[in-house]
Amino acid sequence: LEKTFFNVNELIRRVVVLSKHRMELQGISLVLELKESIPEVYGDPGQIQQCLMNLVFNAVEAMPDGGTLTIKTGYEEHRDQVRIDVIDTGVGIPQEVISQIFEPFYTTKERDKGVGLGLSVVYGIIKEHRGSIYVVSQIGKGSDFIVRLPCKKY
Ligand code: ADP
Ligand code: MG
Repeated sequence: LEKTFFNVNELIRRVVVLSKHRMELQGISLVLELKESIPEVYGDPGQIQQCLMNLVFNAVEAMPDGGTLTIKTGYEEHRDQVRIDVIDTGVGIPQEVISQIFEPFYTTKERDKGVGLGLSVVYGIIKEHRGSIYVVSQIGKGSDFIVRLPCKKY
């Protein structure tokens, strides 16, 4: 692990560059609501970028016929945590499987499209950073993956 203080907005901008082409092809519009004055978080920026990439790719895959991807950041002072929301207007996740999606090898995708490891990797990395992740979702409306990362060194 390469731990350091870094700005999550910069990571998000990088992830956006890497996924922009695919979003354009799929008719997905992007809304960025990045709070500029957020403090830096402490951790491994490469790993957190990987997490954001996995969440963005899942969001894109949940919107095969287009939609809107919104990425928000903010600072929660009472917890001294940065909050990141990755929100799609895609297919949504049934309530009864939400507890399974972070487990390894849970997937609803075809064999060549996904093996179900993305979210388990994300979960492991976020936990290792003493952060948290959960999802609020509605079938046919979309999903909001909420990530919180501590700003203090540990
Ligand atoms: P994979 O993408 O390889 O299937 P993941 O661990 O990334 O594996 O995701 C597991 C499952 O969780 C997906 O197959 C899908 O059913 C569900 N999922 C994840 N993100 C979303 C999302 N944004 N919208 C709808 N379903 C999702
Ligand atoms: Mg995935």
